[in-house]
Amino acid sequence: MPMNVRESLTEFDIISRFFSDINGLDSRSSAHARSAGSSAIMLGVGDDCALLSLPAGQQLALSVDTMVAGRHFPEAAPAFDIARRAVAVAVSDLAAMGARPLAFTLALTLPAVDSAWLQEFSQGLRQAADAYRMPLIGGDTTRGPLTITVQVHGTLPINGGLRRSGGQAGDHVFVTGSLGDAALALQMLQQTIVVDSHQQEYLQQRFYAPSARVNFGEQLLTRATAAIDISDGLLADLGHICKASGLGARIYSERLPLSSVMATLASRSQAMRYALIGGDDYELCFTASAQQRLSLMDCARRLDLAITEIGELVEDEGVVCLDANGQRMVFATTGYQHFS
Ligand code: ADP
Ligand code: MG
Repeated sequence: MPMNVRESLTEFDIISRFFSDINGLDSRSSAHARSAGSSAIMLGVGDDCALLSLPAGQQLALSVDTMVAGRHFPEAAPAFDIARRAVAVAVSDLAAMGARPLAFTLALTLPAVDSAWLQEFSQGLRQAADAYRMPLIGGDTTRGPLTITVQVHGTLPINGGLRRSGGQAGDHVFVTGSLGDAALALQMLQQTIVVDSHQQEYLQQRFYAPSARVNFGEQLLTRATAAIDISDGLLADLGHICKASGLGARIYSERLPLSSVMATLASRSQAMRYALIGGDDYELCFTASAQQRLSLMDCARRLDLAITEIGELVEDEGVVCLDANGQRMVFATTGYQHFS
């Protein structure tokens, strides 16, 4: 990590130079978006607390995620990429709840002060903040092993929210986008596969800048029965919906959506492993009744997002994946877990 240079910036210099002006409004934002976004933020960076005022009829959705260098991203990763990934990963939880991003805070632990690194990091934050129209309203800056904690705040109509527990037997199971790309990207970053420049660009994007599906998540509020974002792998995360809903799921390996890069670079069985137990894709997995199918497809089309129906919820326990011959596929592990 290029952070062994010690510079004479104080903590307050760092905050004012790199973190005080990330307002989530790029130059293309309309005047309407500017006033709508900023009206909820009564006070941002600079005081003891930030102040948020919730629009009438809305509740606050909160989630926090920590990323540790060497554990969640390679030690040598570019600062720009680390920043946008940290924000996208956190915002993905808002998407999975159907919440609209409102603002975020950042707790940053740095081994040393490196203004070039901080500059890049702050640009990555700004890009992500703009993409999700979400200002940085506060945080904490400390010295120690490189660790980035992002807390996101979102809004939801009171009584709204896509819980994991709402699945009904007979509901269809869907996923957004394609699965397994982040696991494949990790192989690339660890240099165990050889890629061309187009594949490299695609996989870098999928790993460092996953698109949290916030716009689609909001559309799911009135259409889905349960939702989760895929951070630990499809089997594990769909398993959480099943457990919370007191049901099981049957999914079909032939239906799992794979990117063309995956189809080119991985064998069929590797692709299945990446899609089912590889984490970090930050796509949404959700359940909905058959009646919602057309409406869901229509919403996805309008947002230029692929969604795929991969199976159904059943009166059982656990997630079963059937191969092309109808045989049950068995895996040694069902996803990534810390402390195991
Ligand atoms: P306090 O000591 O009162 O907790 P700090 O000195 O930690 O305050 O922070 C001063 C101000 O700068 C606060 O408004 C805080 O939210 C903000 N801040 C600190 N670190 C960051 C950061 N990494 N990103 C954004 N805002 C930050
Ligand atoms: Mg204080």
